[in-house]
Amino acid sequence: MATGTLSIDQSAIAANWRALDAQTHVETAAVVKADGYGLGAGLVSETLAKAGARQFFVAVAEEGVAVRKALGPGPVINVFSGHMAGDAAALRDHDLTPMLNAPEQLTRHREALPGHAFGLQLDSGMNRLGFEPEDFSADMATEATLVMSHLACADEPDHAANASQLKAFRAMTDGLSCPKSLAATGGTLLGKDFHFDLTRPGVGLYGGLPFSQAKPVVTLDLPVIQTRLLQPGETAGYACAFTATKPTKIATVSAGYADGLIRAMSGTATLYAGDIAVPLAGRVSMDLLTVDVTALDHVPETLQILGPHQTVDQLAEAAGTIGYEILTSLGGRYTRVLA
Ligand SMILES: *Cc1c(COP(=O)(O)O)cnc(C)c1O
Repeated sequence: MATGTLSIDQSAIAANWRALDAQTHVETAAVVKADGYGLGAGLVSETLAKAGARQFFVAVAEEGVAVRKALGPGPVINVFSGHMAGDAAALRDHDLTPMLNAPEQLTRHREALPGHAFGLQLDSGMNRLGFEPEDFSADMATEATLVMSHLACADEPDHAANASQLKAFRAMTDGLSCPKSLAATGGTLLGKDFHFDLTRPGVGLYGGLPFSQAKPVVTLDLPVIQTRLLQPGETAGYACAFTATKPTKIATVSAGYADGLIRAMSGTATLYAGDIAVPLAGRVSMDLLTVDVTALDHVPETLQILGPHQTVDQLAEAAGTIGYEILTSLGGRYTRVLA
C-alpha cells in the first residue's frame, strides 16, 4: 500500500475544544468548514459534539448538509456565506441557519423561507463579508439567532484593528437582545472584551496557531517506495534541482503536491525517521518526494512529515505559508485513521 497515513487524534481535538472553552465564561462553538480543516467534517463534528459543542459553523450550505448528516438533529449548524440563490431547499431540509450578509440576502431569506432561523453577519472593518453599518438596523436583529462579525488581525494581539473592530461591532450591536459573537481562535485569546455570548474557534481545535497551547492533532507518515545511492554529480528529481556533492542515499516517498505537500516545500522541508531529521532533496513532484536519507543507517518503511517533531505550523513555515493552508490542503488520497 503506497498511500500515506494521516492519523487524527480525536482526544486531542476534544481537549483543544475544552481548553478554548475554559478560556471563556461563554458558549464555545466549533468551526468545521473546509471539510473540518482537511481532517474530515463528519469525523471532527462528531468528536466535537461529544466534547460538548452544540453550535457548528461551515462556509457554505453544502458543507452544512454533510455536517447535519453526521450529527443528526439537534446541534445548530450556521452557514457563513448566508443564504445564496439556490440554497433554500438545503437550508430548510437540513435545518441550517444562514448568517445573512447583506440586505438582498435578508430579503431572499424572508421570501423563500419565512419563519426559518437566521443570523446576521456584520462588517466591523474587515471588508470581506457582512452588512455595512449603514445597511444595518437594530430591527433586523429582533428575530436573529445570532449577530456576528469577524476580526482581521486577531492573531496579532497588539494590532490596532482589534480595538477598532471591537468598537465598530459594539456600535452596531450594543443594546441588541440577541446573542453576539466576534471571536474565532485568535479573538478568544484576546480576552473577555472579545467573547460576547459565543466564540467560534476553528484552527485551534486542530492544533494550529495562534492557539500555541493546542495539543497536536495530526501525524502524517509517508511510505518509502524505493531507495538508491547517488554518486557525486548525480541529480534527483525534476529540473535536476538537487545535486549530490558526496555519495548520497535518496529515498523516494509516496506523497506530493497533489496530496497538499505544496511545491513551495521543495528543497526546504524536512521529514523525520524517528528522531532524525532528513531533508527533502529537490523538487516536490505530484505524487512523490525525494528525501536525503544519507544520515540513516537503516531506512524505515515510512518517513514522517507531521508529528511530534514537526507541527503543521512548522511545516507551513518551511513552505512560506500558514498552518491553516497545510491542514486544509491535506489530500483525499491519505488513509485517515483515528488515534
Ligand atoms: C474561519 C472562520 C472562523 C474560525 O477561524 P479560526 O481562525 O480558524 O479560529 C471563525 N469565524 C469566521 C467568520 C471564519 O471565517
